[in-house]
Amino acid sequence: MHILLMGPPGAGKGTQAANLVKAFSIPHISTGDMFRAAVAEGTELGKQAKACMDAGKLVPDEVTIGIVRERLAKDDCKKGFLLDGFPRTVEQARALKGIVEELGLPAVQALDIHVPKEDLVERAVGRRLCKKCGATYHVKFHPPKAEGVCDNDGEALCQRADDTEETMQSRLGVYEEQTKPLIDFYKAEGVYTAVDGRQPIEKVTEDLLKVLKG
Ligand code: ADP
Ligand code: AMP
Ligand code: ZN
Repeated sequence: MHILLMGPPGAGKGTQAANLVKAFSIPHISTGDMFRAAVAEGTELGKQAKACMDAGKLVPDEVTIGIVRERLAKDDCKKGFLLDGFPRTVEQARALKGIVEELGLPAVQALDIHVPKEDLVERAVGRRLCKKCGATYHVKFHPPKAEGVCDNDGEALCQRADDTEETMQSRLGVYEEQTKPLIDFYKAEGVYTAVDGRQPIEKVTEDLLKVLKG
């Protein structure tokens, strides 16, 4: 299963990725998570990424393509993978096609989680994360059992630095300009399917699984 999850920021890619990788036992490759890990470690990559992320802009293509190329070459990707948040530009999509061909892997299936713009700011601003296990919650739509605390491990939940209303406006603009054209790219490749991301989390998972097991 070689999957890529598309959709605007806050659409539910990370949430759905967690359910899908469990169902197929494949690695979850999130470029956003990779950049956040680099920021936490304080590496050169982290420093470069942080400036872009804080501004709600994209990390340059050559940097992002490089880290994905390295990750996909690892053995655990042979049986499949789920890309979350990559590609985000047509240049990245072209590069991914080349990488997949070079590695002799099957073409990726592109699944687009469709959520209207007006819902996305509320989703991002209310997002809460557990740094320990990676679980994602929402204060209103997917609250933990005890407020501010992870269900899995009792860790205090935190908020992403870029989940502000202001940064979201920039991220949504970037999505419209640079990422939305990927819909036509993957339609032309004949591997594009959209699902309705306004439904409850479990129903979205069910629809995605239906497409994948189709
Ligand atoms: P993305 O990875 O696409 O940025 P996330 O999976 O982190 O999005 O989801 C963004 C926020 O929206 C999170 O707080 C998450 O709990 C919430 N969310 C995810 N899916 C749904 C849904 N189907 N309905 C309502 N809220 C959702
Ligand atoms: P995400 O966790 O997917 O919402 O990504 C958070 C931030 O990381 C984005 O706003 C970008 O700054 C950066 N980022 C993640 N994935 C990419 C990508 N494929 N290309 C460029 N920048 C990215
Ligand atoms: Zn946790």
